[in-house]
Amino acid sequence: MVQKDYYAILGVPRNATLDEIKRAYRRLALKYHPDRNPGNKEAEEKFKEISEAYNVLSDPEKRALYDAYGHAGLKSSGYRGFEDVSDIFRTFSDLFEEFFGFSFEESAGPSPRKGADLSHEVVLELKDLFSDKKVTLEIEKYEACPKCGGLGYDPEKGVRTCPTCGGKGKVLYTEGFFRVSYTCPDCRGRGVFYVAKCPECGGSGRVWRKKQLEVVIPAGVEDGTILRLRGEGEGGLFGGRPGDLYLKIRVKPHPYFFRDKNNLVGILKLDVVSAIKGGKVKIPYFDEKLEVEIPPGVQPGEEIRIKGKGLPDSRTKLRGDLVLKVDVEIPREVSEEGKRLLEEFARVEGIAEEKGLKEWGSSGGKKKKKSFWERIFGKRDK
Ligand SMILES: [Zn+2]
Ligand SMILES: [Zn+2]
Repeated sequence: MVQKDYYAILGVPRNATLDEIKRAYRRLALKYHPDRNPGNKEAEEKFKEISEAYNVLSDPEKRALYDAYGHAGLKSSGYRGFEDVSDIFRTFSDLFEEFFGFSFEESAGPSPRKGADLSHEVVLELKDLFSDKKVTLEIEKYEACPKCGGLGYDPEKGVRTCPTCGGKGKVLYTEGFFRVSYTCPDCRGRGVFYVAKCPECGGSGRVWRKKQLEVVIPAGVEDGTILRLRGEGEGGLFGGRPGDLYLKIRVKPHPYFFRDKNNLVGILKLDVVSAIKGGKVKIPYFDEKLEVEIPPGVQPGEEIRIKGKGLPDSRTKLRGDLVLKVDVEIPREVSEEGKRLLEEFARVEGIAEEKGLKEWGSSGGKKKKKSFWERIFGKRDK
């Protein structure tokens, strides 16, 4: 059989642009469309011919192969062409929609369905954040049935091809000018009938399972972080991929420390004497005790920073600092003896030589004199 030249079939020159090829095909497709030529075998052959030519010439790879080696080149590359007219409609459904302003129904075959995504919350303590934390989650979810792999039928008994649609899942129906393809009513688009339902899942393709999952939460993770665990959601159906599991991390507030980026911040309460004298104090720090050096004369609100005692950064693993904000507790009541000693202390240190507010402004002793306003409010740094 002599095979005709594809360019000749469409009536375009060998250097035709894609647009010219498409226009030529549109014109000819309208002319030889089977719905316009019912029962006309010749028109149907012509329709197949032009569709074949368009299929090759509209694809740059196939066209190059055809240009260089002709029909033999296409054949050697494994190219087969169309089986029948419905194959053409399937292949060019988008194009015909464009040509005729008409949409072919979506294939409703046993299309794979992705499993649902799941979410879960993990609550951690602040101290859990110092290193990677392994947690075991117990998740109840639907999983693809292990017996049928999510397909729903008994794999030992197999399937029977639907006689109505011949296994295609769709039937073609001609209405006037158009061919409508719709889901096969007998097999509901599956193309097959189950010989028997899967005994494990009863045909649903999935089973409800409790699953234990070990997850490593990276050190230094922040409160509110959402970790995505691919494929750990519900199982897919009909070969669809499983959903994902979204893990939300909650970090319980700590009674003494709060987080500021990778630093831990706490309030260090000092009695007034320790604040004046300075020295070492031991503070509870998670499961250990931390010795902190207090500089003499530390002021309320000043910060003492202990390097490297904060939280690790979730990416760099470098640890932040522990920041202690100093609070000085003033005794609300002191004994008569205490008052006497304080007065003595004040006198020695030249803090307040005389009792009474009116004297404050003029006192100063050995220290540099301060104005009344400076004593009350303190001077702003310049
Ligand atoms: Zn099953
Ligand atoms: Zn069917």
